[in-house]
Amino acid sequence: MTRFIFITGGVVSSLGKGLGSAALGALLQARGYKVRLRKLDPYLNVDPGTMSPTQHGEVFVTDDGAETDLDLGHYERFTGVGNRRTDNVTTGRIYSDVLAKERRGDYLGATIQVIPHVTDAIKAFVKANLDDEDFVLCEIGGTVGDIESLPFLEAIRQLGNELGREASCFVHVTLLPYIKAAGELKTKPTQHSVKELQSVGIQPDVLLCRTEHELPDEQRGKIGLFCNVRGEAVILANDVSNIYEVPLAYHEQGLDTEICRHFGLEDKTPDLSRWQDINHAINNPEGEVNIAIVGKYVSLQDSYKSLSEALAHGGIANHQRVKLTWLDSELLETDDDTVIAEHLSSADAILVPGGFGERGSAGKIRAIQFAREHKVPYLGICFGMQMAVLESARNIAGDPQATSSEFGPADNPLVGLMTEWNVGNEVQTRNSESDLGGTMRLGAYQCVLEEGSLAHRVYGTQNISERHRHRYEVNVGYKDMLAEAGLQITGLSPDGGLPEIVERPDHPFFIAVQFHPELKSRPFEPHPLFSGFVNAAKERSRLV
Ligand code: GLN
Repeated sequence: MTRFIFITGGVVSSLGKGLGSAALGALLQARGYKVRLRKLDPYLNVDPGTMSPTQHGEVFVTDDGAETDLDLGHYERFTGVGNRRTDNVTTGRIYSDVLAKERRGDYLGATIQVIPHVTDAIKAFVKANLDDEDFVLCEIGGTVGDIESLPFLEAIRQLGNELGREASCFVHVTLLPYIKAAGELKTKPTQHSVKELQSVGIQPDVLLCRTEHELPDEQRGKIGLFCNVRGEAVILANDVSNIYEVPLAYHEQGLDTEICRHFGLEDKTPDLSRWQDINHAINNPEGEVNIAIVGKYVSLQDSYKSLSEALAHGGIANHQRVKLTWLDSELLETDDDTVIAEHLSSADAILVPGGFGERGSAGKIRAIQFAREHKVPYLGICFGMQMAVLESARNIAGDPQATSSEFGPADNPLVGLMTEWNVGNEVQTRNSESDLGGTMRLGAYQCVLEEGSLAHRVYGTQNISERHRHRYEVNVGYKDMLAEAGLQITGLSPDGGLPEIVERPDHPFFIAVQFHPELKSRPFEPHPLFSGFVNAAKERSRLV
C-alpha cells in the first residue's frame, strides 16, 4: 500500500520545508521503506526554467530532462532516488494542461472550474507514475494563507478524505520565534497558522516546529492543545550545524516514530549509520581547502545550491572542510593583474559554474586565465567550459575575436547555438526564434571519454551519463586549433558531434565540462569530478 504524507508550511517562508521533507524521506528509507518525494509549486510559471536564479534559486534538472525546483535536489541528495518529470508540478503546468484539454474539447461542453477540474488535475498528478512506493512525500510550496496555494490545499484535503487516515498524513512545518525581551519562545504564530490550515479543512497530524531554543514540555503540550494535535506529535526542529545532521536530529525528536505511529506501523529502529558516518567525516576534517567560485548569481547562494553541496561532498570524500569564497565575476573585469591576484591568490582551486549571457563573462575568462597561468586547479561547469575554450582561443591561439553566439550574432562562432541534436532516435531542432522555456538540451546524455585522459582517470570508466542544460555548444570543428593551444577535447557525445569535456594536459588539474555533474552528487556517493577537484585543491594547499 502506498501512503501519502503531505507537507505544508506556515508562519514564514524559508523554513526548510524541502530539507525537512528530504530528511523525513531519508528516515523512512532507513527503516527499509521505499520512498518518492514530490513537490507542488503554486506559482504560474510552467516550470522554473525561465526564472532568474537570483530570485528563485537554482533550476534542478532531472535525468528525463525536466527543469524543476531546487528542493528536488535535496530530495535526491538525501534519498538517492532519482526524480522524474512527474515529481514536480506548478500551477502554470496544471492550468496549461487543463486549458489544452478544454481546447481539444475533452471536457465535452462542461464549464471548467477550479473545483473540480483544476483540483482533479492536481490529484491526478499526486498519484501519477508511481511504482510500488511505501511512501510518497508531497511537499506543497509556499506558505499556508497565500491565495495561490488554495487549489493545492483543497486537492490534498480531498485526497486525505479519499485515502483515509490509514493512507494519508498531514505534516505542518511552522516557526516558534524567540522573543529576546521576554526570554520566551512564542507559540501564537503556530496556533494561527494551524487555524488557517483548519479553515480549509485540513487538520495537521504532526507539527514540525523550527526553533533556535529548547521548548519546555508544558509549552509543547500547550501547542498540542491549541492545535488539536497530541503533545508527542509536536516535534521540535532545532537548528543544526550542517544539513546532513537533520535526519539524525529529527529522529532524535521522534519524527519518524510519530509518522509510523500515525500509520499503525511497527516502530523499528532505523539504520542511520550512513548519516552518522557522513556527520563524523564532516565534523572531523583533517584540513581545509579554500575554493573560489566566480559567478554572476553570487548574491543568492541558493542559485548554486547543488554546486555548493557537491563541493561539500568532495570535502567528505577527502576529509577536508571546504571553504567557499563567492566572487562576483564583474569584480575581475580589469586589466590589472594585481587586482585579479588580490581576489584569487588565496584560492586553492577555482571554479566557474553555469551561467547565462555576456555580462560578467570577461571576469570569468580572467579567472580562468589566472588558474591556467598559476597552475591553480580549475573546474569549469557548462558556461565555465565555454569560457575556458574562449580563454584558450583568445589568449593562446591569438584569436581575440573568438566568441559565443550567446553574446550576439557571429560568423563561425567557437561556441554556437545548437540547432540540431539527437535524443535516442529522434532529432531535436532549434533556431534563434525558438521559445526560451523548456527548449535547451536538457537531461541525461551519454558521453564517451578519451582513454588515459584526466576525465577517464577521475571517472574510472569510459562511458558516462550526465545531466545537461544548455543552448550553446563548443564547435567541434575547432578541435585542432584548441589542441594546439593546449586544450584537448577528451569527452564527446557518442556520435562525436558535441564536445562534452576539455582539459589541459600541461596543468595539474584543469578540466571543464559541458554538463552539470553537481546534480548527481550525493553525500554518501560524492561525484568523482568533485572528489578529484577537492583532492587537487588539497594537493595545491600543501604546495603553497
Ligand atoms: N548559457 C550557456 C548555454 O546556454 C551555458 C548554460 C549553463 O551554464 N547552464 O549554453
